[in-house]
Amino acid sequence: MPSMPCPVLRVALPVPLPRLFDYLPPETEPARRDWIGCRVRVPFGRGEQVGVVLEVGAAEAEPGTLKRIASRLDAAALLPDELLQTLRFCIRYYHAPPGEVLATALPVALRDGQPLPETLEHGWRLTEAGRLALAGRPGQGRPRRLLERLAAGPCSEAALEDFEGWRVAARALERQGKAERLALSPSTGAQARRDDVAGPEPTPAQGEALAILRAGQGFRALLLEGVTGSGKTEVYLQAIRDCLAAGRQALVLVPEIGLTPQTLQRFRSRLGVPVLALHSGLADGERARAWLAMARGEAQVLVGTRSAIFTPLPRAGLIVVDEEHDASYKQQDGIRYHARDLALVRAQALGVPVILGSATPSLESLHNAIGHRYQLARLPRRAGGAQPARVRVVDLRKRPLEHGLSNEALQAIEDCLKRGEQALVFKNRRGYAPVLLCHDCGWSATCKRCDAAMTVHGAGRTLICHHCGARGNRPLACPDCGGLGLQLQGVGTERLEETLAARFPEAMLLRIDRETTRRRGALEDHLKKFGDDSGILVGTQMLAKGHDLPRLTLVVVVGVDEGLHSADFRAGERLAQLLVQVAGRAGRAQWAGEVLLQTHHPEHPLLNTLLAGGYPAVAALALAEREAAGFPPYTFLAVLRAEALREGDVQAFLAEARGAFDAPAGVQATTPMPAPMARRAGRSRGQVLLTGEQRPALQAALSRWIPSLYALKSARRVRWSIDVDPVDLY
Ligand code: ADP
Ligand code: ZN
Ligand code: ZN
Repeated sequence: MPSMPCPVLRVALPVPLPRLFDYLPPETEPARRDWIGCRVRVPFGRGEQVGVVLEVGAAEAEPGTLKRIASRLDAAALLPDELLQTLRFCIRYYHAPPGEVLATALPVALRDGQPLPETLEHGWRLTEAGRLALAGRPGQGRPRRLLERLAAGPCSEAALEDFEGWRVAARALERQGKAERLALSPSTGAQARRDDVAGPEPTPAQGEALAILRAGQGFRALLLEGVTGSGKTEVYLQAIRDCLAAGRQALVLVPEIGLTPQTLQRFRSRLGVPVLALHSGLADGERARAWLAMARGEAQVLVGTRSAIFTPLPRAGLIVVDEEHDASYKQQDGIRYHARDLALVRAQALGVPVILGSATPSLESLHNAIGHRYQLARLPRRAGGAQPARVRVVDLRKRPLEHGLSNEALQAIEDCLKRGEQALVFKNRRGYAPVLLCHDCGWSATCKRCDAAMTVHGAGRTLICHHCGARGNRPLACPDCGGLGLQLQGVGTERLEETLAARFPEAMLLRIDRETTRRRGALEDHLKKFGDDSGILVGTQMLAKGHDLPRLTLVVVVGVDEGLHSADFRAGERLAQLLVQVAGRAGRAQWAGEVLLQTHHPEHPLLNTLLAGGYPAVAALALAEREAAGFPPYTFLAVLRAEALREGDVQAFLAEARGAFDAPAGVQATTPMPAPMARRAGRSRGQVLLTGEQRPALQAALSRWIPSLYALKSARRVRWSIDVDPVDLY
């Protein structure tokens, strides 16, 4: 007699397998739909795992072989339906193991199965002793200023963020019994809130953008293209105010480097409600609290980096993606999702508008605007009357250079300092010099573990590989020919700093690159110290955005020539974006700005187009090139990558994988080939590139192909991954 189908719970577990795992419910609780979205602890292998129930279904295996759920961790779904829908999309679209997608979406503290933390906002208030102290003799210092701040009533910790060193001051007051910490109930929280500030009257162009957002309801995508300082953030703020007025939540995504205390401060001071932050610099507990405060509808505005796109928004009203072209929105390991693309998916599922803002929109987004899938609003001018910077090309051919700097550039820096203003010297290369070369025999210092040159650091004394971190001393004589003709080729930020310090010994000089900003918040601290004083900033693309520098009137771009000759099909787009962003730093306030562009290729079409027509002209040119060459956004790409210590293992896997791929019409796969950097950190790397004329055909082919790769014997000897819509082909 056939038995009744036995209902089971299908659980996503954080293991690299493309499937769910069936479990029987505990005997006391039937398998019902209300399990979906809940975390569970289950026996797995010899131990236990925490996972999330994604489906309820009928057992496929013999029920007798199934294990039971050990415990249910959430009484109600932790992940709402709409978010689960987006996660299911991720699993399908990125061909990713379900458990790993869930693990990516959940804050670490929740993924581990910890109980849900408290999310009520905390704040500080004066005690009786505090009030007495305040009335007593005046004092100074931070604790005193905090006392004065709290005199008006309890203040939330979020609102105190603009008070430097408040934590230490508050603890000091607490020890003295003058202040105490309290959980703010939603009503005390409201008291602690300040009023929102209306902000400036929108310009006509801003008004048009807002009209698109205010017309009607439901999903729509607005591409907001506006140069730096044109008032994009003002549009976000107005749109968020609309959203708050309707009692809805707003999610703002910013690039990794864009989430500065200054950015948060601007949102906080304008919106009058707590603004939560979510980024990798927070402790696990804080991340979980921000995520949950949104999930519970207790917080209304969240500003976060890439992974914030997985925050539940039960009362969603708006999603904003600032600097939408930024490459940091694409996760480059694990689940290789693109947060901007997922913002579109979620906005659609939630039925809310999404704003994509940038001075230099990605070609993908421009293509969507041209095809009327997105609405386009342009903010062509800087708000507040600031003039666009003048750009001058400095032809370096046959000119003497002082460690990479032309006479024109040095003269311009000198003039700028004389005027009491700030100059930015930009070189997207950290270290002292990118290459150490033997002039006698042509030997150059390369990394033993990577196919890459070692960068010279430490005023020429040390060699460091930027790809694997290997270090060594700089040899005094050539290891190959024993000659003493070793030369430093090219310049990095360290060498520029040294040159500028020697040339302008009086000037304040600050170097900003990954070395000088290792500590979180270091960039902000440096720039704050620099402040409004006259001086020179030297640095990499870290300087292209972030902190506002109103006294910055000169930008010197030391060299762009590497970018002009890169093989990557996105190199031109990237370079144009970087140049426009860096140039946008000059002259933000009432002072006019100037940009000097040093190059050996003044006739290069990209530079000429950029100078004549700005970013829109470069973008139009690049789109035409992509269409002709069959690259995205006109085609769709995926890369299968593999790496292993032994090159043979990589080749064997890729050959077997390629053999298992059966390409439908309109989809091509290359033969296996070495990655552009074929060896990195001692591992051989190879890849197969897949191109589809249409997205559905490529996706269908991947869906048939990827599951079979797990079964290949050769797959066990390599690390492999699939990258859908790669932003880099290495
Ligand atoms: P973006 O985000 O495009 O860089 P912002 O929104 O930061 O531009 O605006 C740049 C500057 O111009 C800010 O100081 C802002 O206060 C000011 N601003 C923006 N919109 C207006 C407006 N409508 N009227 C007056 N000033 C404005
Ligand atoms: Zn030599
Ligand atoms: Zn290396």
